[in-house]
Amino acid sequence: MAEETIFSKIIRREIPADVIYQDELVTAFRDIAPQAPSHILIVPNTLIPTVNDVKPEHEMALGRMMTVAAKIAEQEGLAEEGYRLIVNCNRHAGQEVYHLHMHLLGGQALGPMLT
Ligand code: C5P
Repeated sequence: MAEETIFSKIIRREIPADVIYQDELVTAFRDIAPQAPSHILIVPNTLIPTVNDVKPEHEMALGRMMTVAAKIAEQEGLAEEGYRLIVNCNRHAGQEVYHLHMHLLGGQALGPMLT
């Protein structure tokens, strides 16, 4: 059984976070240390530690993460100029929080890589 992270507490609204979207499958909130003018994390409500732990039964939530990313990008005014979606997996990618999450970054021209 994987250990819960702070993201589970954010999803359950037990600790404060700037939550901008939530439904029965996913939650989106602004990153506490933004690396771009818009930096939002989109997470499945269920605990999946890393991409390595993804199972077929997670496909609904993972698909929802993409449709929610597109919706938020539109709301943030990022759709036309563009934005970046990143999912880090394990140490070499610099994953810090072991609850799978998608970074949505935009609002400026991004360099060749941004975490
Ligand atoms: O992909 P990685 O695991 O490195 O990213 C974790 C992200 O979660 C960081 O960008 C960090 O700023 C963010 N974070 C947050 N709120 C917390 C803890 C971490 O937005 N309470």
